[in-house]
Amino acid sequence: MRLIAGSCSIENREQALSLAKKLKSRGITEFRAMIFKPRTDPESFQGIGYEGLSILDEIRSLGLKTVTEVMSELQIEKLYDHVDVFQVGSRNMQNFSLLKELGKTDKPIILKRGFASYVDEWLKASDYIVMGGNEDITLCERGIRSFDDITRNVLDIGAIIYLKQSTGFQVIADPSHSMGRRNMVIPASRAALAAGADGLIVEVHEDPDHAYSDGQETIDIDMFDELIEEIGFKE
Ligand code: PEP
Ligand code: MN
Repeated sequence: MRLIAGSCSIENREQALSLAKKLKSRGITEFRAMIFKPRTDPESFQGIGYEGLSILDEIRSLGLKTVTEVMSELQIEKLYDHVDVFQVGSRNMQNFSLLKELGKTDKPIILKRGFASYVDEWLKASDYIVMGGNEDITLCERGIRSFDDITRNVLDIGAIIYLKQSTGFQVIADPSHSMGRRNMVIPASRAALAAGADGLIVEVHEDPDHAYSDGQETIDIDMFDELIEEIGFKE
């Protein structure tokens, strides 16, 4: 089972490295290392930016892989030497120029589902990457928009089942952005795995109530330990 974990965004060196060490000690090998944040509100924290590149290097020197969102094709070259896995976020699923350029790279890609995209559109987006020659793609179901606001998004369990039955892609789920609520992350993780997901990407922070972004859906280390226990995660 693949378990990617880390805070919504890298806030500073101390925060990122302290968390990275704690997660590493729990057997995590891939760390959410986000330095650019696609935020709906332009006034909100946008990420630490290129200043964070040296932090990515330090995270890697701990023996963790960096999973980092790339928001534009113009960022690929600068990020390339510091990133192990490129994430394409929900808001960029149909950024075709980005997808085409990522297709020319030799790094694994996590392609998150657009929050209002059909599965068919998602698969066609993945074709843009494949056409460039890169077939190392993981699809991440992160919830879609609906009329109900009891959860931030609706985790599409049917899409996970469909993709596992009908495509050869590795599929992971994001119980954090889909639920938008900390106390729903563990049950949603279990549901996604029961549906056949190959893994999860989860937001974790040592002090979620003071996280710079998405604290409401972010679990703390104790809850992360509970999650590991409940899903039977082993190194
Ligand atoms: C993220 O995973 O950091 C993120 C911004 O999620 P999404 O693109 O699914 O909203
Ligand atoms: Mn987030």
